[in-house]
Amino acid sequence: NAARKPLLAANWKMNKTPEEALSFWHEFSGRLSGETGRVEVVICPPYPALPALQGADLRARGVYLGAQNVHWESRGAFTGEVSPGMLRAVGCSHVIVGHSERRAYFGESDEAVKRKLRAALEEGMTPILCVGETLEQRTAGRAEEVVAAQLTAALEGLDTGRAARVVVAYEPVWAIGTGRSAESRDAGEMAAAVRRRLRELAGPAAEEIRILYGGSVAPDNFAQFLAEAEVDGGLVGTASLRPESFFALVASA
Ligand code: PEP
Repeated sequence: NAARKPLLAANWKMNKTPEEALSFWHEFSGRLSGETGRVEVVICPPYPALPALQGADLRARGVYLGAQNVHWESRGAFTGEVSPGMLRAVGCSHVIVGHSERRAYFGESDEAVKRKLRAALEEGMTPILCVGETLEQRTAGRAEEVVAAQLTAALEGLDTGRAARVVVAYEPVWAIGTGRSAESRDAGEMAAAVRRRLRELAGPAAEEIRILYGGSVAPDNFAQFLAEAEVDGGLVGTASLRPESFFALVASA
């Protein structure tokens, strides 16, 4: 959809020191020549690499900095947590919330995801809300229902101005980091189901919300996802770790 600017986000997960992040950036940015005019590119490194990238020329090259997680409180006795304001202070404009690894390994509930999303919006950031079904849920024919429930839990009651700033990443859990991506037709159908739910939850603002596909996106399969009417970009793990493969994705978007 031409009205929505495509978005490509790199989720580095627990990879790269500040030095490695900078070396990625130098190689990646050396290849950029105007792509960021048509694609919104976001790099989400681990927290310790944020200041190093904040000090590099990402903004001048049209690239945004994001975090992989955030806490909903602004300060206080929450050992190990980082607030939205702290992320802003190190240059983050975007933040991933509710990634399936956080839901599965760190017990992140729908309620926690909802609070994180709202806190990020409150701080003026763009939340990238991850939703997606497990293989078991897909096999049981419950994929749409599961994703609809995740969307409702996170977005219900949000005013339309804020809702329009949300980005949704549809990531089937079984496709993440497995080298086994979804079929593009299935991803397209799920993205259409996401859009329908977004219309129920956010009204006309739903047309502005970018829907990304994530799950073993690679340079040789990305075009087919982007060709789906309701897919507006990608959230990329493995293929975002090497400058040449992430650049290939950006160039093809
Ligand atoms: C992700 O972490 O969001 C992801 C999609 O990972 P990968 O691209 O490695 O499947």
